[in-house]
Amino acid sequence: MTRNHDLFRRAQELLPGGVNSPVRAFKSVGGEPFFTARADGACLWDVEGNRYIDYVGSWGPMIVGHNHPQVREAVERAVRDGLSFGTPCPAEVTMAETITRLVPSVEMVRMVNSGTEATMSAIRLARGATGRSKVVKFEGCYHGHGDSFLVKAGSGALTLGVPTSPGVPKANADLTLTLPYNDLAAAEALFAAEGEAIACVIVEPIAGNMNCILPRDGYLQGLRELCTRHGALLIFDEVMTGFRVAPGGAQQLYGVAPDLTTFGKIIGGGMPVGAYGGRRELMRLIAPAGPIYQAGTLSGNPVAMAAGLAMLELIQQPGFHAELERKTRLLADGLLTVAAEAGVPFSVNRVCGMFGLFFTDARVESYAQATACDTAAFNRFFHGMLKRGVYLAPSAFEAGFMSAAHGEQDIADTLEAARAAFREAKAG
Ligand code: PMP
Repeated sequence: MTRNHDLFRRAQELLPGGVNSPVRAFKSVGGEPFFTARADGACLWDVEGNRYIDYVGSWGPMIVGHNHPQVREAVERAVRDGLSFGTPCPAEVTMAETITRLVPSVEMVRMVNSGTEATMSAIRLARGATGRSKVVKFEGCYHGHGDSFLVKAGSGALTLGVPTSPGVPKANADLTLTLPYNDLAAAEALFAAEGEAIACVIVEPIAGNMNCILPRDGYLQGLRELCTRHGALLIFDEVMTGFRVAPGGAQQLYGVAPDLTTFGKIIGGGMPVGAYGGRRELMRLIAPAGPIYQAGTLSGNPVAMAAGLAMLELIQQPGFHAELERKTRLLADGLLTVAAEAGVPFSVNRVCGMFGLFFTDARVESYAQATACDTAAFNRFFHGMLKRGVYLAPSAFEAGFMSAAHGEQDIADTLEAARAAFREAKAG
């Protein structure tokens, strides 16, 4: 019995599905997940000593690569002064200053401990501020595991076939209205019918939890105008895209200012962190400045702030995002060439350091198209890559991530693995 198999057997006895977050379990791709012993740069090493070029990056945070010395040293310095204070600490102020400078629509911010907390808190604020109760989300978008969001959700919920989760009270789910992403006419029709009851629209400005789908030209602007016209708040969930697709996130890239924004992943540098923020008069409604309650024992944790600040410093270096984009293009173009050589229908969506792989000839712009792709071919491709030392997200419905640590040789090795993996994907 291998060490990995033994660990997974023990884990399955004690953790639901053997994991602490569903997609990690390899349920849809099949097989056993590997247990990671350590990570450095672009790579993970499992407990057997196998090395993998990693395009998951802890699901997004590791944009500068794993175990970056500057991030690690910032954490080590912070740890020497104590792990948690339960009082305000200086790094929280620097963090708020950094976020509000990089993302101008965010005039004030509240730190939390995960993306889920950020989105749950943001819709509470939207409801409290507008006095309305309905929330609009998009089919296949994922905003964490709050009750209001597990309605036609993406990510693991979609991967495991439970997009609307048991355990969410009907009364709660009824307050979540869903729309097809990238279909402005559908949004206009919904607002025409229910506009007065809608507190907010929450959207992943680039959808990264049903694979990776980019907004059509004018789509985000259209949502902005609809919300403004009907007195609803527009929330961009930039937990994935924030600081990744541009220093100021998707809102900078597309030139659309939401009322509220949620963050996670990169702002924690690999530590458990989230944040929400937005216009000053809205954020002033949050306790203790205002009456809308939200709190957290570990929020603004000094070690987590140190990691996040080190990460945010690194992503502000000149040319950082251009280089991520260049490498992602290199990878995407290479995969398209190799797939074509193998005769496999395949397309790629990409934006800066974020990408999606689709087993179809079509350019994918919708949830319906993404879910119609050949997932069996993806699963074979995933395993073909894994056994050659390349780790892609273990689901056809997750985005992939490039990091600053991936080198040209890593990309060349990835394409070499893909040459064989595409042939195997086809052969199935
Ligand atoms: N929003 C988006 C867009 C996400 O991608 C995720 C997690 N992948 C979340 C929210 C939830 O964040 P967390 O897992 O930190 O709760």
